[in-house]
Amino acid sequence: MPARAGAVLELPVGDLPVAVLVTTRRAGDLRPGSQGAAARRQAVLPGEWSALRQVHGASVRGCADSGSSGDALVGSPADRPAMFAADCALVALVSPQGPVAAVHAGWQGLRAGVIEAAAARLRSLGARELVALRGPVIGPECYEFGPELLDELCGRFGERLRATTSDGRPALDLAAGVAVALERAGAELVGEVDSCTACGREEDGSARWFSHRARRDAGRHALVVTTRR
Ligand SMILES: [Zn+2]
Repeated sequence: MPARAGAVLELPVGDLPVAVLVTTRRAGDLRPGSQGAAARRQAVLPGEWSALRQVHGASVRGCADSGSSGDALVGSPADRPAMFAADCALVALVSPQGPVAAVHAGWQGLRAGVIEAAAARLRSLGARELVALRGPVIGPECYEFGPELLDELCGRFGERLRATTSDGRPALDLAAGVAVALERAGAELVGEVDSCTACGREEDGSARWFSHRARRDAGRHALVVTTRR
């Protein structure tokens, strides 16, 4: 059963033998443990995926530890490391030297340093250069954020993270935070999905992504790193 048209985006990785796939809401709930999700993952990309029990932290695991807890999964593209989210950022880190990572970073993961930790692990595995690709995140226009926590994150990552919602309330620009963390990790952002998980729409007006904040969705879209076909 192939995935529905428009349900899978492939982000550009240049000449590397790697593919980074991002699913939309049309691919259905791909969250590990949700009923039928394994079959839906097979419709997106057949074969075994590696995944973690995501806990909004900064632990980095190898794909041999698939199923344990953590928010960054490091391995080879053949291991198909995957992460799942509804508003948080999903980031692929790819190295021409071979190792890759899938990372889940909401504000908590960003604060905990999960992106920098994943990049450091890849470097310990031989990566000298790193490029990054980012899936959709909740946009600041839809992401009201507590002022004290916003001050803390801006203190760590800079004023680029400070934004306002569409109705003028304090907001976090999570994509800007991810960009700063990637810069600090020495990873070049070469592709991103520029669409808000809360307000991004398909052409027919339906929601394009899962959003916990906007709709209390239990479902999760996915980012998976694999070998280029
Ligand atoms: Zn939005």
